[in-house]
Order: sequence, then structure tokens, then C-alpha cells
Amino acid sequence: MRINLDHYVQTPILPIVKQAMAESLEQTANPSSIHEAGRKAKQLIEKSRRQVAALINALPEEIYFTSCATESNNWAIRGLFGANKRKGSHLVSSAIEHPSVTLPIRRLEMESGARADALLVDSEGFASPAALKELLTPETVLVSVMLANGEVGTVEPIKELAAVAREQGALFHTDATAAVGNIPVDVKSLGVDALSFSANSFCGAPGAAALFVRHGVRILSLLEGGGQEQGGRSGMENVPAIVGMGVAAELAREQLSQRMSQATYLRDHLLDGLQQRIDGLRINGPVDLLRLPNNLHICIDGVASESLVLSLDQAGIAAGLGSACNSKSMRPSHVLKAMGLTDEQAKGALVLTVGLETTQDDIDRAIEIIPEVVKKLRSVTALTARI
Ligand code: PMP
Repeated sequence: MRINLDHYVQTPILPIVKQAMAESLEQTANPSSIHEAGRKAKQLIEKSRRQVAALINALPEEIYFTSCATESNNWAIRGLFGANKRKGSHLVSSAIEHPSVTLPIRRLEMESGARADALLVDSEGFASPAALKELLTPETVLVSVMLANGEVGTVEPIKELAAVAREQGALFHTDATAAVGNIPVDVKSLGVDALSFSANSFCGAPGAAALFVRHGVRILSLLEGGGQEQGGRSGMENVPAIVGMGVAAELAREQLSQRMSQATYLRDHLLDGLQQRIDGLRINGPVDLLRLPNNLHICIDGVASESLVLSLDQAGIAAGLGSACNSKSMRPSHVLKAMGLTDEQAKGALVLTVGLETTQDDIDRAIEIIPEVVKKLRSVTALTARI
């Protein structure tokens, strides 16, 4: 049996989610139609909206369905900036954001006269509220800092950062893609104006994601057309994926604390086992509670990430490169760079993420297999160095 230790971007879709999606596929209709089948499809969407809103303590009308987290982030950046630029033209985002946040900001700089600053992070990946305060000006329209970094696991002090932005009258968006479903997320207590997340992070299917926009916050619409999603995001809704997101959200809310303790237990067991068996192993990101419970990010001396991930794959383990979203690049990710790691230090970066289906047996076997693979790779490196 293969061992899946790569739950960073896509978590396995739960059978009950698949079943709900399959049932909704049996009754396809245009949710904008006023006949019975159309009304039924619309009801399915609204039920899911309530389930998804409950997961983050939002009002259903504050939830806009999109197709992926990338879309939610693009919309948040452009839509919030565009609707509020009378205040000024300044934006701030952290140095470890996903490209779906940084690239729309860059485009605003190139095309709309925006000016952007990067909020630096420390060696564990934390952004500081004091440093944010230094960057803000009366012209700052929007601040965007991710809730958790799915690569190194750091959970950012969003409540404090959002409070600093609010004091200066700036809007605050957070990309919570790696957080929702893994840790409690409450938009009211966080005090954020907008929040992006997607179903595939909590055992839903790809194709459904959402943007939370706090009631009363102005945002430009993303797609113009038939006026779906309260006119914010026109286009025929992906009913099956949205239904799946709702079911997955309800389960994630009900089971969150149990899922968190199981993930923490398995992740810590994995770390202990690897630390005992592999020398030259370093942990990246925080080691305490301010870390995603399912995430382990390590650097292993004397091996290269790509060889390690490919050799682990051959040995039956799916693991992630140091940066899953950057997998085509052989360079260390911008996240590790922002945390101050040199190219050499970041060379053997590996991200291991446990999921709902991960068992104690999976972890016990991984603890045996990973050190063996590292040993083999190191001996090959030593051999080639001698030739
Ligand atoms: N934000 C974060 C924090 C991510 O980790 C990712 C990648 N999983 C995304 C946004 C983009 O997600 P997607 O490719 O599903 O749009």
C-alpha cells in the first residue's frame, strides 16, 4: 500500500462528498431558471453557502463561490483595490504570499499606478504587526497576509495584523487556503474584510472555492454577465462541486478538533521518528502551536529535494517538494528565501503533510523507509564526489 504524505494542495475527496456530488449530477438544471428543477439547483447552492459560511463564522450572504483559490485571491486583490482606490494607491502583502496574490498586485503596479510594499517575515515565517505599522500610510488601501503558509506551516498573527490595518483605515484580506479545514477560522474574531479558501483543502473536490467579503465592504465584480453570486461573479455555477464543498465544510466544522489532534499526533510521531534516524535534519517554520497541525517541513543535509521526492515515490511514498506550488522550479521557494535560508540550506527541502486517511501504520512505515532512502541517496552523492 502506498503512503500519501502529500495533502498540501489536494486532500482525498471523502466518499460522502463524492456521493452528494454524484446525486447532484443526476439533476442538472440551471440554478437561475425559475422552474422546479432550477429552483432545486438553487436550493442546493444556498444550502452549501450556509454550510460553508458556518465553517468560518460568516453570514451566508458574505460567501461568494468561485472556481479556485487563485480566482478568489485575484478577485480580492483587484476588486478591493479597484472599489476603494479613492483612498490612495498603496498596497502591502507579505513576502511569503502565493503568486495568486503577488502577481495581481504586480499587475496593479504596472497598469493602475499602484505602489506596493512587501511585509518581511522572520526566520520562522512570521509577519510582525509592528513591522506592518511601519509600512502603512494614510494612502494604504489594502493589506493582504496569508492566514497560514501551507509550505512551512506558519500560522500568522492575523487578528493583530488586521487590527493594525483597521487603525489606519486600510482593508485587510487573508488567503486562508492552507488554513480552513486544518485550524479554526473565525472571520469575526479575526476582524478581516475578505478571506479566500478552497474546497480541495478540506476533502472537497477541486472546482469549488469561495471568497468571503464582509458585509458592507465595497468590491468590484469579478466577471460581468448574468449576475450570479449577487452580481459579483457571473457565470453558471458549478453545482456538483459547490454541493461537495458544502458537505465537506459541514464535516470539517463538526470534526475539526478531532482532526487536529489526530494530525498533530501523527505529524509529531513522524518528526520524532525521523529525527532519531536521520542526522543533519532541520525543521523549518515554528515548532509550537503556531503551526498547521498536519504539516512538517524539513531540510535534510546532503540530498536534493527532487531526487528525494522521486526516490520516495519509487519507494511508495508521495511527498512534496519544499514548495508544491513552485514544483516546476529547481530553485528554493520564495518562502524559504524570505525566511533567510540560503540556496544550499534549502536544497534538501521536503514537505510532509498527513491527512484524514493517514494511519499509524503509514507513519511507522514512513519512519523506516525515509531514512533508508536518504542513506542511499547520500551514499550515491558520496560516491559521485569521489569519481
Ligand atoms: N493560496 C495558497 C496559500 C495556496 O497554498 C495555494 C495552492 N494550494 C493557492 C492559493 C492556489 O490554489 P489553487 O491552485 O487551488 O487555486
